[in-house]
Amino acid sequence: MVEAVAEARWRPRITHPGVPVDLAAAEKAATEMLAALGLPIDSEDMFETPRRLVHAYAEMLTPPEFDSTTFTNSAGYDELVLVSDIPVHSLCEHHLLPFTGVAHVGYLPGDRILGLSKFARTVDFFARRAQTQERLTMEIAEHLTERLEPKGVGVVIEAEHTCMSMRGARADGARTVTAALHGRLRDDPKTRAEFLSLTRDPAIRSGGAR
Ligand SMILES: [Zn+2]
Repeated sequence: MVEAVAEARWRPRITHPGVPVDLAAAEKAATEMLAALGLPIDSEDMFETPRRLVHAYAEMLTPPEFDSTTFTNSAGYDELVLVSDIPVHSLCEHHLLPFTGVAHVGYLPGDRILGLSKFARTVDFFARRAQTQERLTMEIAEHLTERLEPKGVGVVIEAEHTCMSMRGARADGARTVTAALHGRLRDDPKTRAEFLSLTRDPAIRSGGAR
C-alpha cells in the first residue's frame, strides 16, 4: 500500500484527456476535401490516401502517455542539468503543417530529479497536438516546474515551420527560437547566462572545445 502510494507519487502516468476521434467521419470529409482540391482520389494510387491522411493526423494529434519517473536527489546535485537537441515534431495550429527542430531543456534540481529519458517524453507529449511554438515552449517549462519543484527551469526551442518554408513567405531555412525561463534561470543573471550560452553554442552542446 505504502509502495503503491509512493509509486503513484514518484512515477505518475502523464495523460491527456483527449477528445473522441471519429475516424469514419474524418475519412469521408478528407475524401471530399481532396476531391475538391482536384486530386485524383479515384485513381489506384490515391484511392487509400484519405484513410492514410486521417490516420496520420490522428496519430500526430494524439499526445503519447508516459510514466514521469522522478528520483530523490540523494547526492544533493545543485548545478544545471541540461538535455540538449531533443527532437521536436509538432503541427502548427494555423495550417496543420509540421514544424520540426530541437528543444534544449535545463533545470536546477530541488529535492527531486527527473529520469533523463523523460525530458524527450515530456517534449513529445506537448508537441504531439495542434500547437504554436510559443505555447509548446511554455507548457513544457510549466509542466516541469509543477512536477519537480526545481530551483529553476529553462526551455529553448529552435524550429523550422513548413508553413513558412513550403508556402507563403517560402523562407527556407528560417528558424524560430523561443525560450521560457522560470525561477533562478530567469532571475539569477549568472545562471541565466550559463543556460543560454549552453543552448546557443552547438560546439558546446556536442561536447566540442569551447
Ligand atoms: Zn502555420
